[in-house]
Amino acid sequence: MADYTKPLPVIEKWNAPYWQAAKRHEFVAQRCRACGYTHLPPGPACTNCLSADQDWVRLSGRGTIYSYGVYYQCWHEGFAGDIPYNVALISLEEGLQIVSQVIGCDNEELDCGLAVEVSFDDITPEVSLPKFRLLK
Ligand SMILES: [Zn+2]
Repeated sequence: MADYTKPLPVIEKWNAPYWQAAKRHEFVAQRCRACGYTHLPPGPACTNCLSADQDWVRLSGRGTIYSYGVYYQCWHEGFAGDIPYNVALISLEEGLQIVSQVIGCDNEELDCGLAVEVSFDDITPEVSLPKFRLLK
């Protein structure tokens, strides 16, 4: 963990519950108390009505690969040891989408529509990243 060289999320007051839940390996999204809209990634206000009155709901962590790309170019030196790596758009059961990564498999195994489940990557004492594994 000490030699983690990739960019880290900036934890702010409004997104701290998201990262605290991830640290407990719980996958959550914001739900607006004003209009009921559920959204990811977390933000300081509802993306539907701009209310700052937000609550948190637990997600199943299950979904499917909507799309993905495999990176062969190193765009940040922190990722140099990971080339080639994938970036995937995951469609969650709850109708939300999240940009993440599918881990625990070869990139050649990836395909749109495959079922995945969240798997937390504990990268620092404060941060666990929600990534996904293929359901086989
Ligand atoms: Zn709202």
